[in-house]
Amino acid sequence: MAGDGEFDFIRKRLLPLMEGDPAGLDLADDAALLSHGPCEEFVLACDTLIAGVHFLETDAPAVIASRALRSNLSDLAAMGATPRAYLSALSWPAALPDAWRSAFVDGLAHEQARFGLVLVGGDTTATPGPLTISLTLVGSLPVGTALRRAGASVGEDVWVSGMIGDATLGLEVARGDVTMPTACRRAYEAPEPRLGLGQALRGVATSAVDISDGLLADAGHIAAASRCRLVLDVDTVPVSPAAAGWLAAGGALERLMSGGDDYELLFTAPPTQRAAIAAIGRDLALELTRIGRVEAGSGILARRADGTRLETVRTGFTHF
Ligand SMILES: [Mg+2]
Repeated sequence: MAGDGEFDFIRKRLLPLMEGDPAGLDLADDAALLSHGPCEEFVLACDTLIAGVHFLETDAPAVIASRALRSNLSDLAAMGATPRAYLSALSWPAALPDAWRSAFVDGLAHEQARFGLVLVGGDTTATPGPLTISLTLVGSLPVGTALRRAGASVGEDVWVSGMIGDATLGLEVARGDVTMPTACRRAYEAPEPRLGLGQALRGVATSAVDISDGLLADAGHIAAASRCRLVLDVDTVPVSPAAAGWLAAGGALERLMSGGDDYELLFTAPPTQRAAIAAIGRDLALELTRIGRVEAGSGILARRADGTRLETVRTGFTHF
């Protein structure tokens, strides 16, 4: 999660440390790609969650463990990788009770079993600051098959998996907003990383990103990396029945399209792949929806069914 200033800092100060090594993918993708022998590449992703910034201080420890691991796994899913192992850097405030840490580790144990991962290293430390959880995920895939943000071409379709916006509404439920649909809470607490989809899309999709910053912002990442424009028909983006009810009661579509933490995949593919993508959706019992087209130009155009532009007050994650 990074604002404009952070992207600028990454580009100006951290990018030189990559020293042109192709493994870093210009520090601009969902994960790094490290060559390993003739057949396999490692995929490495690191993500940090800070109390009060990326999760609520009141979130249960198992929920924080789940979101930490799943949001990282989503980055591997976006590359098409199979997860192997992870490292954890945990910075505990001194006042954090032992029972809390224990419940957090129980949460990690539950989640790593669910996704077939093991912990292989890391660090724990005390901090005078807020609880900070940093996980590094290691995955792998056959050489040359990684899905990248760059790769979309003019004339291709834009697709999205699952439903968009529930996590945004679920966060408001977790914050105690009783006007939000409670059915959305699970989407915030335990988002589903689309690992099977990412792996199935290798050789089918031309670009992919996971939706962590918000559908519009992450579509913008593909547009920027692929040097093209994504035209999105936002009224075709699927939303859950709970979110549809919230919209019908006056909720703003913009909020669902800009909210973060969906962890669905947004990807592009040529029209010749439509039948293959439909088959993947059937195999995975996962809704895959065509929501737009790749055009020449730059940035994104979020278009309503009546031809007007979606009014956006912000595109993407803002810290809470
Ligand atoms: Mg990502």
